[in-house]
Amino acid sequence: MARITGLAVSGGVAIGRVFALDQTRQRIPRRHVSHAKVDKELERFDAAIAASIEELEDVRDRAHEELGAEPAKVFGFHLGMLADKALLEPVRAMVRDDRVTAEHAVYAVFREWENKFASMGDTAFTTKADDMRDLSSRIISHLIGKPADRLAKLDHQAVVIATDITPSQAAAFDPEKIIAFATDTGGMTSHTAIVARALGIPAVVGCKELSDEASAGSMVIVDGDRGIVIVDPEDDEIEQYQGYLEQYRLEQLSLREMAQLPAETLDGTHIELLANIEFPIEAATCAEFGAEGVGLYRTEFLYLTSVKEPTEEDHYQSYTQCIELLKGLPLTVRTVDLGSDKLTQLQMEVPERNPALGLRSIRYCLNRLPMFKLQLRAALRASAHGPIKLMFPMVTNLREFLACRSVVNDVKEDLHEHGIAYDNDIPLGVMVEVPSAALQADVFGREVDFFSVGTNDLVQYTLAVDRTNERVQNLYSPHHPAVLKLIKQVTKAGNRHEKPVSCCGESASDADFAILLMGLGVRKLSVTPSSIPLLKRLVRSVTIEQCEKIARKAIWLDSDTEVAAMVRDRVRKIIPEGEDAEVIDPD
Ligand code: PEP
Ligand code: MG
Repeated sequence: MARITGLAVSGGVAIGRVFALDQTRQRIPRRHVSHAKVDKELERFDAAIAASIEELEDVRDRAHEELGAEPAKVFGFHLGMLADKALLEPVRAMVRDDRVTAEHAVYAVFREWENKFASMGDTAFTTKADDMRDLSSRIISHLIGKPADRLAKLDHQAVVIATDITPSQAAAFDPEKIIAFATDTGGMTSHTAIVARALGIPAVVGCKELSDEASAGSMVIVDGDRGIVIVDPEDDEIEQYQGYLEQYRLEQLSLREMAQLPAETLDGTHIELLANIEFPIEAATCAEFGAEGVGLYRTEFLYLTSVKEPTEEDHYQSYTQCIELLKGLPLTVRTVDLGSDKLTQLQMEVPERNPALGLRSIRYCLNRLPMFKLQLRAALRASAHGPIKLMFPMVTNLREFLACRSVVNDVKEDLHEHGIAYDNDIPLGVMVEVPSAALQADVFGREVDFFSVGTNDLVQYTLAVDRTNERVQNLYSPHHPAVLKLIKQVTKAGNRHEKPVSCCGESASDADFAILLMGLGVRKLSVTPSSIPLLKRLVRSVTIEQCEKIARKAIWLDSDTEVAAMVRDRVRKIIPEGEDAEVIDPD
């Protein structure tokens, strides 16, 4: 039995068998084949090399076309290695002489080269060691199947364990089969964690050496509430967790009763509770959880769930599906926010040196106008069928917003010329995710129709803490007074220009932080749909005056820890632990 702690990023508990996602990077055991099967193994190896060559040629050509000659070179180099007899012959010899599987021979031969290069110390050789590892996992994935293919073939429920899971891998999980996941790396607000919440499956990240501990097929418990993963649990532990599962189910049922009650503070201030979604189908559950609309639709998941670029029709279908499911409630379409930890196939193959500060979000869209226009066209067409707002991510200066507006106007003109209907008054807003946008909120306030504070990134960029890195999670703190001061700047500008301000970062669903947000003047909170009932219960338990008093004090404290402790203390006085459940309005 091994008990490993990590960061609890998606609630609930699951008990099941391990599915090891990254077998291509792990040790491939030495497995013998019969004499009669050696030729078949050699054929499998040749087929895997041919498939790898085809794949690399495709990536090299796309990289060349979209990014230029230099980034494409590395794939040319990998292709060269696949033509090198000195590298491939020893693999064939090992299959023939030792009668082992092709995947083991690839693993063993490439591993030997990798170790040789790595031991030479010089960076030029270490890079070659990385190339060897990359190439070996590419060939092995053609031999044993890509993780996505192996997952698609899975015919039973399982818990995925991996070193890391990308948001696009997580987005492809079928929650009927994948009942939970846990990873060695990752942070609280990483997009992989966000996807787990969207799928409604428990997840724990940042579990350090978990993937070494949990081998394929072992029994595992993932406790997404406490951030614990238990590998090979004892029987009494399984029993205890089964009891907990039942209690959790009953609690969720009682929370659902909140959905129909108004989200109003005790002194009558309405707080609009909205949903963050990644997949159109989630729009169906919005009203069920008591959301008044979608405050953030992360449309880049259309790219992350598909191997080819979505067409205008794909976008249009997704938006109209949301509109239909929302039955008149508003939909905020956040334009594609790719880059950083959300990567397309090509971005994954050609990594940027510093992706969080690179060609991401609105920069990426303004750099690829045909792609951007295609999305705007689809959203504008859909706006003829229901209330849609457009929101631009990671805007750092007014120029970018004005450029977006001008592209929207171009697309409108084009639609008009073709007699295609759209909402001419579609509201255009910006996300405040970097300090420059918050500090200049007053300037933006003259131009935009609304603001949405994205604390996931605002915290990352204000405190210089990677939101996906478990090693610095102790520094990732939305309660930092610097973050609070920036949010205050935005609500002040919002009030001055009469432009609504929402918050759609993950911390909006944290009770203590939501109180701070309300106290700072935020009147719209957009969160994972399943968090809405708890948040509504909170809103209905406080007065705005109480929230304002807490926020006024917090903003002038010295540190995030002082703020967190003060808020916790004050909130517990207003809503003693356990008692908040009673504050349900009888009417
Ligand atoms: C944010 O940064 O707070 C946000 C909501 O956007 P995302 O999490 O998709 O980066
Ligand atoms: Mg963001």
